[in-house]
Amino acid sequence: ATPLAVTVGMGRGAENGILFKSSEAIQRVGRIDHVVLDKTGTITRGEQVITDTITLSDLDAEQLIAMAGSVEWGSQHPIAAAILNEAQRLGVETSMPDDVQSTPGQGVSARWDGKQVHVGNLRFVEQHSQVDAELQDRAAGLQRQAKTVMWVACDGAIIGLIAVADTIKPESAEAIRRLHGKGIVVSMLTGDNQHTAEAVAEQVGIDDVMAEVLPGDKTKRIRDLQSRGEFTAMVGDGINDAPALAQADVGIAIGTGTDVAIEAADVTLLGGELRGVARAVHLSAMTMRNIK
Ligand code: ADP
Ligand code: MG
Repeated sequence: ATPLAVTVGMGRGAENGILFKSSEAIQRVGRIDHVVLDKTGTITRGEQVITDTITLSDLDAEQLIAMAGSVEWGSQHPIAAAILNEAQRLGVETSMPDDVQSTPGQGVSARWDGKQVHVGNLRFVEQHSQVDAELQDRAAGLQRQAKTVMWVACDGAIIGLIAVADTIKPESAEAIRRLHGKGIVVSMLTGDNQHTAEAVAEQVGIDDVMAEVLPGDKTKRIRDLQSRGEFTAMVGDGINDAPALAQADVGIAIGTGTDVAIEAADVTLLGGELRGVARAVHLSAMTMRNIK
């Protein structure tokens, strides 16, 4: 039978927007000694907005957005939504591409208007296009401002950059401080660029960053921590995070995230309130004390 203290603890959690999926979940949370946080949608709001466009050749910003937006048609990635929102804001028309190929954690390519277009990170576009050093410096400058940079290539030539920014949740730094206060190590795990990840990490007080991790490798990073004997929690919101949430000793989903993440997790934070992680640890400790 479930001890009364556990039932009470789970009820207290629910009142605070922390849903433990099982009585086992609340008992495990108190043992966490390493919390791994996804970046986009977990530490940040996940509402990306285009901040900069850089165009090469004789293309203007609207043409760049039309091309990138069209190729992102049908893409589920939040970056696709950001580019298509920008197209709408500018009153730029986009249209359906052909032969769409999306590479998770890297980008998307398609034929559009008789051209072969690639939109994605550096690793993705440099497989097909020559990348010059000056443009890489400009990309790095944007990334150090915590922006995510997408490269756009057309028929094998880089034609521009699109940068998006996201807002850090107001409670993220406090949430991380509270975990540190409990002696818990806090890391970030993201598919985004190293500079961008470090810029966000610095703003919220995270010292350990695992960046440029492909979606399929996120689980492996969690397993690595576990094999060092660390009782590891993963906190995330995306479809990409689901396998890592399932692998972690405790998977914690952001309630405003995807259903897939919520299903894979042991705990859900309603409203995406990140301070809920430390509160859950506290609740678990109180609960276990009342059992003994
Ligand atoms: P995260 O860990 O932040 O969820 P992802 O693994 O989904 O990141 O993606 C990693 C990077 O790959 C993104 O920061 C972006 O540069 C690039 N990328 C992924 N999908 C797309 C897309 N549909 N369009 C453009 N770029 C993309
Ligand atoms: Mg995310």
